[in-house]
Amino acid sequence: MFKTITNSQIIEILKASAARIEEEKDFLTELDNEIADGDHGINMAKGFNSVVAKLDGLAGKDIGSILKTTGMTLVSTVGGSAGPLYGTAYMKAGAALAGKNEMDGMDLVKAFEAAIGGIQMRGKATTGEKTMLDSLCPAYDALKAGIESGDDLKSALTKAVKAAEDGVEYTKTIKATKGRASYIGERSIGHQDPGATSALYLLQVLLENV
Ligand code: ADP
Ligand code: MG
Repeated sequence: MFKTITNSQIIEILKASAARIEEEKDFLTELDNEIADGDHGINMAKGFNSVVAKLDGLAGKDIGSILKTTGMTLVSTVGGSAGPLYGTAYMKAGAALAGKNEMDGMDLVKAFEAAIGGIQMRGKATTGEKTMLDSLCPAYDALKAGIESGDDLKSALTKAVKAAEDGVEYTKTIKATKGRASYIGERSIGHQDPGATSALYLLQVLLENV
C-alpha cells in the first residue's frame, strides 16, 4: 500500500519531472510548432531546469514551501502562457499543502483541485478548449473518484494517468479556442495539444514515483 508522499519524495518527483520534460522537449516543441509558435518544450525545459537549480536549497522544507517556490520559479523564468499557468498551479497546490511534510490521497486531491483552480483563474479556460485542462481535469476527476472509493495512491494515480492519456487523445479531435493555437481555429483539429501532453508527462512521473 502506498499511502503518503513525503517532502523528500516531492523533491525527487520534481527532479524526475524536469528530466522527463528535458527528454520530451523536442517532441513538445514539435507539437506546439504544428498549431502555434513552437516553444512549449523550450519553455517547460527552461522553467524546470530553473526549478532543479533551487531544489537542493529546499531539502527539509515542508511540501507547501517546496511547491510554492517551484511555482514562483516557473512564473518568473518562463515566458509565454504555460509557465505562468503551471506556475500558478504549483503555487496554489503549495498553499493547499502548507506546513505538511507528508501528504495522503485526500491531500493530493485537495492540492490538485487548487492547482486546477489556479490554472482556470489565470487562463479563463475550461475543458473542451484544447488546453492542458483537457488532460488535467479528467485526471483530477479519476483521482478523486479513486481516492474516495478507497484506492491507494498508486491505483488512484494509475486511473488518473489513464484519464489524462484519453484527454490528450481527445485534444486531437477538437479545435483550440484558447491560447495561441486558437489563432488557427479549425486547422488546429487533428493535432495534439502540447500543454495537455506535458501535463500527462508530469502525472506519469508522479505515478512512477509513488
Ligand atoms: P505560448 O502559447 O505562450 O507559446 P506555450 O507554448 O509554452 O506558451 O504553452 C502552450 C500551451 O499552454 C497550450 O498547448 C495549452 O495547453 C496551454 N494553454 C494556453 N492557453 C491556455 C489557457 N488559457 N488555459 C489553460 N491552458 C492554456
Ligand atoms: Mg507556444
